[in-house]
Amino acid sequence: MFSIPYLDLPPLQAAAGTVVLPGSKSISNRVLLLAALSSGTTHIHDLLDSDDTRVMLDALKALGCEVVRQPEGGSVSVSGLGGALPVRQAKLFLGNAGTAMRPLTAALSLLASVWGGEFEVRGIARMHERPIGDLVDALRQMGCPIADLGQPGYPPLRLGNGQPAALLLHEPLRVRGDVSSQFLTALLLALPLVAEQDIHIDVVGELISKPYIEITLRLLAQFGVHIRRDGWSRFTVPAGSRYQSPGSIHVEGDASSASYFIALGAIAAGGAEGITVQGVGLDSIQGDIRFVEAARAMGADISGSANALHVRRGSWPLKAIDLDCNHIPDAAMTLAVMALYANGTTTLRNIASWRVKETDRIAAMVAELQKLGATVQWGEDFLSVTPPANVADWRPAALHTYDDHRIAMCFSLAAFNPAGIPVRILDPRCVGKTFPDYFEALFALTATASAYIPVLCVDGPTASGKGTLSAALAERLGYHLLDSGALYRLVGLAAERAGVDTSVEALSTPEGAQRVSAMAAAMNVTFLPGQILLEGTDVTDAVRTESAGMAASRVSAVPGVRQALLELQHRSRRLPGLVADGRDMGTVIFPAATLKVFLTASAETRAERRYKQLISKGNPAKLENLLLDLKARDERDSQRALAPLKPAEDALLLDNSAQTIEESVAQVLDWWEAKRPFHGVVS
Ligand code: C5P
Repeated sequence: MFSIPYLDLPPLQAAAGTVVLPGSKSISNRVLLLAALSSGTTHIHDLLDSDDTRVMLDALKALGCEVVRQPEGGSVSVSGLGGALPVRQAKLFLGNAGTAMRPLTAALSLLASVWGGEFEVRGIARMHERPIGDLVDALRQMGCPIADLGQPGYPPLRLGNGQPAALLLHEPLRVRGDVSSQFLTALLLALPLVAEQDIHIDVVGELISKPYIEITLRLLAQFGVHIRRDGWSRFTVPAGSRYQSPGSIHVEGDASSASYFIALGAIAAGGAEGITVQGVGLDSIQGDIRFVEAARAMGADISGSANALHVRRGSWPLKAIDLDCNHIPDAAMTLAVMALYANGTTTLRNIASWRVKETDRIAAMVAELQKLGATVQWGEDFLSVTPPANVADWRPAALHTYDDHRIAMCFSLAAFNPAGIPVRILDPRCVGKTFPDYFEALFALTATASAYIPVLCVDGPTASGKGTLSAALAERLGYHLLDSGALYRLVGLAAERAGVDTSVEALSTPEGAQRVSAMAAAMNVTFLPGQILLEGTDVTDAVRTESAGMAASRVSAVPGVRQALLELQHRSRRLPGLVADGRDMGTVIFPAATLKVFLTASAETRAERRYKQLISKGNPAKLENLLLDLKARDERDSQRALAPLKPAEDALLLDNSAQTIEESVAQVLDWWEAKRPFHGVVS
């Protein structure tokens, strides 16, 4: 997926409908590792497909596991190693996935000690700032040779030294539980590999994020290992534990990801329908399901069934709360943004673990909430949020996301602000860590007044480079693209294919005009990414031919055709925004567009471009003929009575004759920026 520098969310007003959650990250990566360590093949259904699971899958393949993605239904099959170690040496890159780094460190340290292996684990720069020392200490206590390859206590690490090492397992292992529960999870997942005797683990300090340990224990049981525990301080891996694949396993939807949609239902006016979140139910095994209680305390109206939640707005404004969030560390970030809509100060306590996550989440939330106009107080382990006092105190903000998916997702909810101001999310694609399609899912559920949805018009004569410029702009802005020329070309093509006469003479008769207008109104077109279907047939290349262009130019002068295509064009103004390319985008279709650009390259430059384009595709062409055709089309487009080709009065003229496409894009984005409210805001 391409990266885009920012995504502007228009002010959002309502939300309703159903979202299907992606699989849980915590469950997915645990299940992948368990499947890899087990005997037998595991078919994993609804596995999360994201950055964090991809690094885990790549690591498992590098270790010799066979991974097969089933074409049907999206399940993944992993053939387990059964406790063996076919690959004894590997360098593994684990991105920023704590759920891969910690458990793999433990499992590979033990396997390397048993079989004489040597592995390097590393990640992105932030991963090398996330602590792992307490886990390494516990593994070293057991006799695992581990070398720090960077700062002691942090990745990267070398696990094993190529020689078998004796493991000391009779003494209880001691591991800290108050920094990250992943240290304990990592040991619990790894120790069954070497449990020839009972192995005891003593947790030092108060264990945080207990629900994640519960997930670990439940999944271990599904893979045949039953851990005994005394409260939350002593865990015992029974002698003779062995991993056995359950054959097939289903991954629940991600309860932390559910929090954004639960909040959406609580915040947005959605009427009776509200939001249905599919993939987790109230009896989910994930700790973050308890976000439901917190959201209810703030006023959300939530009911649940086995595999779904239904959310509607309850109390409004939301009710401010004061809550210990230790049990829902990730989902609690969503509460901090819900707090923007509460009737007082919301305080989230016992959240010190936020400091060692994808970023220092306390510092990040403070900075970004303040940019929006909220009053924030904070300490080592708490955060208090008071919403902007008045509507006028909300500020347009360009919000940093710190390469942290949850910051990007939770702040999208700020777009419901009562001031009706858009919200800019910087580096929005960081959601790929757990929810690559998050924004698409959000826009599919939300609605706003059409006037709030920004439109950038690019009009100009044929072969002026509108199409290339518009596509590049749409990609950079994360907006939809309307290629209005393609619609007229489709009408021309549909008419030709149906044997309808599109000569200027025929179209000048009422019957001829009526016939082609009716075709335009009835045409069944489907726009897919990079593909256009007409009546179910692929016409992607056919619409781009010169003859389709000439036919388009003739049929587009018929008022009935233009009328028939009007609604289709208006409908493409969808969240989060539109880049519209054509002849009359700024003059007729979107007269109130945010920015109108009119391209003005000379006819000679344009003819030359078209010539090069055709020749490079192996199509014979003559420059003189192209120039004549082009001038004829310009003439007809400019002279027609309805929607003639001309710049809108408020259009900015761009002569791109001497510009590269990058230069044109940069110029238009500068103009765009000047029209947006983020101009000059602190980011
Ligand atoms: O832009 P393109 O070359 O694909 O457009 C084909 C023809 O469709 C143009 O020559 C023009 O006559 C017509 N058209 C139009 N209004 C638009 C877009 C295209 O009349 N908005």
